[in-house]
Amino acid sequence: MTTRRLHYDDPLMLRGEAEVVAHGTFDGQPSLVLEETYFYPESGGQLGDRGSIGGAAIDDVRLDRDGQVHHLIRGDLPEPARLPEVGSVVPFAIDGPRRREFMALHTAQHCLSRALLDAHDAVTVSSRLGSSGCTLDVDRSGLDLRGLAETEDRINALIDEDRPVHQFFPTDQELATLSLRKPPPRTDRIRVVDVEGFDVTPCGGTHVTHTSQIGLFYLRSAERHKGGTRITFDAGPRARRQLLEDRSAVLEIAARLKCAPEELRDAVDRQAARLAAARTSIGALRAALGDLWAARLTPADGAAPVIATVPNADPELLEAIASRLACGTRFVALAAEGPEGIAVLFTRGPDGEMHAGALLKKVAASVGGRGGGRPGHARGRLPTGTDFKAAVEAGLQTASP
Ligand SMILES: [Zn+2]
Repeated sequence: MTTRRLHYDDPLMLRGEAEVVAHGTFDGQPSLVLEETYFYPESGGQLGDRGSIGGAAIDDVRLDRDGQVHHLIRGDLPEPARLPEVGSVVPFAIDGPRRREFMALHTAQHCLSRALLDAHDAVTVSSRLGSSGCTLDVDRSGLDLRGLAETEDRINALIDEDRPVHQFFPTDQELATLSLRKPPPRTDRIRVVDVEGFDVTPCGGTHVTHTSQIGLFYLRSAERHKGGTRITFDAGPRARRQLLEDRSAVLEIAARLKCAPEELRDAVDRQAARLAAARTSIGALRAALGDLWAARLTPADGAAPVIATVPNADPELLEAIASRLACGTRFVALAAEGPEGIAVLFTRGPDGEMHAGALLKKVAASVGGRGGGRPGHARGRLPTGTDFKAAVEAGLQTASP
């Protein structure tokens, strides 16, 4: 039996009385069936309402194949005696803030689809109004937030203009005169939502009755998705919450950088310039330190291997020292103690024949470390406390170049 759906005509009716006509089940969950309902059942990308009927908490509303609306009862099945009796007329209440949020989001989605079509020739492929985020996928790629700023402005202007939103079932003659944004579904009764003077589209969801009820529209991201663009947006109370969250993030970052929010761009630029200068300076210092260490570690016998630990060296400094020492046939093994063990680097001069990668792999295996690499260059890590010099010398004795 099809349930008469009153939310079509009055999306703002959130409380009243209803007659229970059956106790049912939907996907194994107990439900109440009403003679007619203001509750919206999940469909068309919009979630079902929540609320209560005759004291029973309703946590979802679903539509079965026969068009019967099931108001699903939360949690375990209450005792039959506690369910509102079949035939009784009981009070109902729909979760108003949640419903109004979805009305705002759904209407905003229509406006966004139309604005994207008008301004960017982007056709809506699908949309999803989730309980935590709303997305809209369009067939055009290359859209980004900067390029969509005017679209966002356009929708907020529509909100300020407080345009009426008409929701109705047109006659066939009326339907023929309407210029719909997308083709209607193949159903007996086609419902149309008309944001006056802006967008007309077939839709069975709940929407605001005037655009000012959307309150606020806020674009959050636009990214590549399946050859098109996925746009994430918020509207209504959710947009307000998100905007305030974003504001507190900005204020916190500004406080950390000790500047006013409007000075953040300059402050970030200054930090980036400082970082670049510091990197340049560190590079110069590392080169100088590399020269000093290389001079200190160069053996009297030019072909003798260099096996040394360099205190407080980072991997880049080890590289700098090694590159200066690796000449002729010389083999070079350097180490630096760090919090996660001993970082090691093996290399050799261009005329050397020792396979640095194979040797490091062998040395690491002998002491429970890891590492390896190419014949001329290898890196690894040995456990803290390893006698580096002894381990490398032992490896060299048994190594065949
Ligand atoms: Zn809609």
